[in-house]
Parts: sequence; C-alpha cells; structure tokens
Amino acid sequence: MTKQLSDCASELGLKYFLISYTDLFGSQRAKLVPASAIAGMQKNGAGFAGFATWLDLSPADPDMFAIPDPDTLIALPWKPEVGWLAADIWMEGAPVEQGPRNVLQRVIAQAKTAGYEMKSGVECEFFLTNVDGSAIADGADRAIKPCYDQSALMRRYDVITEICDAMLALGWEAYQNDHEDANGQFEMNWSYDTALVTADRHAFFKFMTKSIAEKHGLRATFMPKPFLGLTGSGCHSHVSLWHRASNLFEDEAGELGVSALGYHFIGGVIEHADALCALLNPTVNSYKRINAPRTSSGATWAPNTVTYSGNNRTHMIRIPEPGRFEMRLADGSTNPYLLQAGILAAGLDGIIKKTPSGPRLDINMYTEGHTVKDAKRLPLNLLDALRAFEVSAALKSALGESFVKSYARLKHAEWNEYAAHLSQWERETTLDC
Ligand SMILES: [Mg+2]
Repeated sequence: MTKQLSDCASELGLKYFLISYTDLFGSQRAKLVPASAIAGMQKNGAGFAGFATWLDLSPADPDMFAIPDPDTLIALPWKPEVGWLAADIWMEGAPVEQGPRNVLQRVIAQAKTAGYEMKSGVECEFFLTNVDGSAIADGADRAIKPCYDQSALMRRYDVITEICDAMLALGWEAYQNDHEDANGQFEMNWSYDTALVTADRHAFFKFMTKSIAEKHGLRATFMPKPFLGLTGSGCHSHVSLWHRASNLFEDEAGELGVSALGYHFIGGVIEHADALCALLNPTVNSYKRINAPRTSSGATWAPNTVTYSGNNRTHMIRIPEPGRFEMRLADGSTNPYLLQAGILAAGLDGIIKKTPSGPRLDINMYTEGHTVKDAKRLPLNLLDALRAFEVSAALKSALGESFVKSYARLKHAEWNEYAAHLSQWERETTLDC
C-alpha cells in the first residue's frame, strides 16, 4: 500500500515537506509545502513553471507538476521537522520526457523487461573550501601527498561525522570516510543499491553535504577541477547487473571472475564512452580533470583513454574483484540520475549487440600509455562530447530522442556562452600577433 505522507507527518513530527526534483543541469528545485497541504500534493503534485529551470521547456508550456515518491522520504538530519522527497515531473498527465529521474526510470524499465536490474554505488569526492570557493578552507592542509592524511581528516571531524551519522541513521550503511588525494578534498562511502535508490541518495548526499558544510561556515563543492594543480573530484561508479538474487556479472570461469555478459556490458560502455562524457562529464570544467597533466600529488587518478584493466586505477574501467567493475570516468558535476541512466543504457546496448570489450590492458596508463597506439581517446572538451552524444543512435533509443535533443540544446548553449568569453590568456597570447 502506498505510504500516506500525511500520516508520516504526524508519525515523524514533520511540519514541512520539500518536494524536490533534479533538472537537466543537476540543480535541485523544490517547493516547501506545509504538512497540512501534503495529502493533495501527494496526489496531484506541486506546481512549477518548467521553463524557469533547466529542462528546455517554453514559458508558454502549461504547469508542470512534481509528484513526490513517498519511498524517498527523508527527514532532513540537520532540520528534522522538514521531510525531503524526490519527485517525478509530469505535464498534462504524462511524465516529462527529459526529466532526469524519468529518463532513468525509462532505462530501468528496459532493463527489467530484459530480466536485468542494475545495482551501483557511487564515490562522491568533494572539496571543503572557504565560503567564496576561492581556496581550500584548511590552511594547514598542505601536504604534497595528502591522501588519507589523518590530521587533516580529524580537523574536519565535526563536519564529516555529522554527515556520516546522518547516513548511518538513514540506513545507508555508511562504512568509511577519508581525506582524498587533493588538499581540502574528502570522500565518504555508503553501500551500493539499485540504480534508482543510489541516484536518489546521490542527489540527497550532495544537498546534505553542502547544507551541513554551510552550517559549519564552510562550502562543499563537487566541481570537477576547482584547483588546477590538484587532483580533481571524480564520481567513480561501481556497477553490477542482477537477476533477482544472482549477480549476472559473476562467473568463476570468466577472466577476473567476470561473465561474458559482464564483458559485453563493458564493451557497450567502452563503445559509447565519448558520447557518455556529455552526461558523466557535463561541464566545461570537467575536461580539466580528464586528460589533465600530472597533479602535485603525482597522479590525476582520472582516465585519459577509453581502456579497461584489472585492479589498476590508471584506466577508465577497473575490475577490482569478481562480479563488478568500476567506471572511473564520471566527475562531481554529473547529474546523479543521468549518470546511472547513461551507464545502464550503454551497457544494455553492449549486451544486445554482444559488443566485444577488446583486450584488457595491465600497464600503467599514465606512464606507458604512449605505447598503446590504438586506444580511443576521450573527448578533449564538452563540445566534442556533445557532438558524439547527439548522434548516438543507441543512447537516443534508450534515453529518449527528445531528452537527447533537449539536453544537447541546453548544453550547446552553455558551451556557446563559455566560448563567447574573452579570456585573459587569449588576450595575452594574441595581442601581439
Ligand atoms: Mg576517491
């Protein structure tokens, strides 16, 4: 039976609900609704003017309604009288085709028809900076190799544990927190789940981390490369495909314990990697993380080529153990829903077409990459990624033609806005031409 949100309000002492949806650029949009009005909103949705957010709608379009999914209800750990709800967006009685949560559910339904359920976990890296974002917040965090720095981690104990305690209370099975490879950078891990649950949690994690950091006078940013010389923020995703309780990627007889089906899925991800960049690396800044020169810590930890390996972090895909792989391409700016949707769509295409994964490479790609002559390179900028994305028949068919069109249109506009800027570098290198 569907959970009645009005009952939840009295049981949990909720005074307000945030009915929240994520737009194409990953921004979360919400209405704050008093508990007395939630029953009607649960049925009919909260009204929005869709054009006012990044959805490629028109100001002439009718009202858009965000219908909350009651299973996603979370009492805000830092404001427990408010209940957060992920919502699906609808217009004139139909789901909005380019709504990111709708897109993900569409691909999940395709997988389900074929007998598959994707499970995934995400590793969200982020920086804690000063309020204007111009510098990391901890002036003492200056080690050349700062990864796992115990003292720098403990100086942020109050913020990190407030977030981790919240995840534990929410039943996410949080299991570790660390200082990452860049000064001021952290990562917090919780358990994997089905793609939709992980996407909702990923969206909420970003909101929660920013909110709790703000409470402590800091700023949390998931920007892929906020500081040029330092390692960027990735969003590594661990992926497996299931049928009921059995992991279809697991096969004792397969290479590295991965089944033929798993390698076809990987083949699909490899084949569509350049197009996927539009979703997994969706900002101008993303391309300063991938294809980046070596950072001060010694490695970028980000891929440059479309290759896969065993337990080796210098490739786009790593197979750390039997039954799953890690996609290391995405960064902190990826939309939580489109990340999952993109990987699943590419993987399903690989399964359908039995796409070969190609040979596994066991070399250090950072130092020996030049010895591999035929490895596909990643797009060098957002424009190249968009061009690959908008002509991808496989992604169009799985994610929806109108979604691809809308997303590409908005992102092209963003690229054009960026390209219209006259930079100081451009002036300095060209004035005397
Ligand atoms: Mg990491």
